[in-house]
Amino acid sequence: MINFNVPPYTGKELDYIRECVEAQKICGDGAYTKKCNSWLEEKTGASKCLLTTSCTHATEMAALLADIKEGDEVIMPSYTFVSTADAFVLRGAVPVFVDIRPDTMNIDEQKIEAAVTAKTKAIVPVHYAGVSCEMDTIMDIAKRHSLIVIEDAAQGVMSSYKGKALGAIGDMGCYSFHETKNYSMGEGGALILRDERYIEDAEIIREKGTDRSRFFRGQVDKYTWVDKGSSYLPSDMNAAYLYAQLELADEINERRLEIWNTYYRELGELKDAGKIELPVIPEGCDHNAHMFYIKAADFEERTKLITFLKENGILSVFHYIPLHSAPAGKRFGRFSGEDEYTTKESERLTRLPMYYSLTEEENMYIIKKVKEFYGFS
Ligand SMILES: *Cc1c(COP(=O)(O)O)cnc(C)c1O
Repeated sequence: MINFNVPPYTGKELDYIRECVEAQKICGDGAYTKKCNSWLEEKTGASKCLLTTSCTHATEMAALLADIKEGDEVIMPSYTFVSTADAFVLRGAVPVFVDIRPDTMNIDEQKIEAAVTAKTKAIVPVHYAGVSCEMDTIMDIAKRHSLIVIEDAAQGVMSSYKGKALGAIGDMGCYSFHETKNYSMGEGGALILRDERYIEDAEIIREKGTDRSRFFRGQVDKYTWVDKGSSYLPSDMNAAYLYAQLELADEINERRLEIWNTYYRELGELKDAGKIELPVIPEGCDHNAHMFYIKAADFEERTKLITFLKENGILSVFHYIPLHSAPAGKRFGRFSGEDEYTTKESERLTRLPMYYSLTEEENMYIIKKVKEFYGFS
């Protein structure tokens, strides 16, 4: 059976974890957390990057920092993972869902402005499959309406838009290091702060509402409860696991792109014959091969394709059930305008196995079977 996902592993992870254990430094903000933060800051050019326990938690921090309150509206796509909305719903905000573009499956930047009301506080673009949303347009809308932009860049580590790292373009960005993402620590994430104004508050929120971070830097002589907060810092053992992969990030990225490009090239024949659609990478977007998906003609054909692949030992999965059609989405949010593409496109998309350790033979076998399903050899 070819798995849909295998978590990345490069070889140094256990050595680094052992180092933490032997040094008896396993709680948060140890040496490996600092190394990961610095690596992220260098890579993104952001003022500050803080490792968190998940991307969901990074988004919760962003919602707190943006001072999202009861009744505020937050614009986002409906075609996304639940955390994009959850973090704001926890603060009593209303997710306002905007349709996606059929080419990238990203929020349609042309439909955002119609969703803006007097209650709108923030826009949350989700960079689906690590391919950037149209950020120039989104930043321009945000500026004209004084909105905060929080990027859900869970899938976008190592991707860029016009040379700028995803996550560091908006006011804040959120990364995921869940085991299904390109770089992993099991469960984990990071909050990316483009400029300095949020740093102090972010450190306080992440440390249970205390100024412990300043205390450790010797800036105060004792630490105390200064504001609201929670516990969003991961164990240094998890950071150690992640750091082994960040050190080899270019190598991992290259291998993933190789797999992605092979899928794209070899399935081109099916695309040219009008059998399937393949991902579109707009100009100016450098992606990280987070995901390779194909679109079948419709829901029925997709179901048959997934079943056929499974019978041939290949696990292919689909997602997401659009949030506005889920029970919680109906209760907490609303859709702005018409659902022209969100439901239709999500129903015909399926993802092929895509991970660092996928072999060339597996890559070619999957391609062969997809072609076979469509009567090509
Ligand atoms: C994976 C993912 C998340 C959640 O990440 P966690 O680290 O598991 O909290 C949020 N948004 C998107 C788009 C994701 O793909």
